[in-house]
Amino acid sequence: MKRAVSERDGGRCTFKDPRGRKCAETVTLEFDRLNGFARTHLHEVDEIRLLCRAHNRPAAGQLYARAS
Ligand SMILES: [Zn+2]
Repeated sequence: MKRAVSERDGGRCTFKDPRGRKCAETVTLEFDRLNGFARTHLHEVDEIRLLCRAHNRPAAGQLYARAS
């Protein structure tokens, strides 16, 4: 299941900064559950996304991508 998420997201952080540039982080990746935890297994993959450690935080929206 996690491998499916990783392949869908291209093995990199899915965060986009306000300019629409995607984060290029590919090392410190973590799985972020959009709804906290899945209530059903049907669309579990759709509710999980890859985020790097820097962006997998409540204040992630305040951060800009570090890598360019
Ligand atoms: Zn990131």
